[in-house]
Amino acid sequence: MVRAENVHKSYGPVEVLKGIDLEVRQGEVFCLIGPSGSGKSTFLRCINHLEKINGGRLWVDGELVGYQQRGDKLHELKDREVALKRRDIGMVFQRFNLFPHMTAMENVIEAPVQVKGETKAAARERGMALLERVGLADKAGNYPSQLSGGQQQRVAIARALAMKPKLMLFDEPTSALDPELVGDVLDVMRGLAEEGMTMVVVTHEMGFAREVGDALVFMDGGVVVESGNPREVLTNPQHERTRAFLSKVL
Ligand code: ADP
Ligand code: MG
Repeated sequence: MVRAENVHKSYGPVEVLKGIDLEVRQGEVFCLIGPSGSGKSTFLRCINHLEKINGGRLWVDGELVGYQQRGDKLHELKDREVALKRRDIGMVFQRFNLFPHMTAMENVIEAPVQVKGETKAAARERGMALLERVGLADKAGNYPSQLSGGQQQRVAIARALAMKPKLMLFDEPTSALDPELVGDVLDVMRGLAEEGMTMVVVTHEMGFAREVGDALVFMDGGVVVESGNPREVLTNPQHERTRAFLSKVL
């Protein structure tokens, strides 16, 4: 579903991704951990076409979306192609990013109606099923300000799912939540994983990574330091940098 080969990304003179190699298989829960500033969000943004890579090769959903060969100009998708690709990728951010002037239901049906041209009636029916799935059928008419952080995040997940994505990207989805609200969001993510959704999850929730993750990558300073089975990496890290990081977060 995602394959990165020597992916580089710079902002001006600052190189943030310094040659990322990794592979996310279909149906896999792929956890990405690492200290702040290591390039995790940047990498997710590259997968989601919010950023263009400066070097290496990146495939998403079987398609080469960016590459640069020695001396060549960077190959990249046209804006229209990017828009189409982005429909297939759901993204959930640390801050819930709901439209504040829309109810939970209106948030969920916005893209299916506006982007895909679904009828409001059909979108609402599916929207209600999605809100049920995240445990919020009774909050369909609430505005974001009338929901807890955890509820807003679950609406954000339902909104992403409304586009029937092939791939879901989560960027620290529980980091901004009060501790007692984290579990409900992780439960929704666990349910998605059980249904076979391909997910790339940036998280500090090592329990989730251990129990739900199929693969785990530890990134530091724009490179992959260590990767493998989450249980193995978390129990028996091979690199000093991984050990130092884990001793701080575990
Ligand atoms: P992480 O998600 O692992 O905390 P980020 O990908 O957000 O790391 O950031 C990696 C580095 O890239 C940081 O040093 C950050 O300041 C820098 N950075 C991120 N986005 C931008 C941007 N749009 N312009 C310039 N620098 C950026
Ligand atoms: Mg980040």
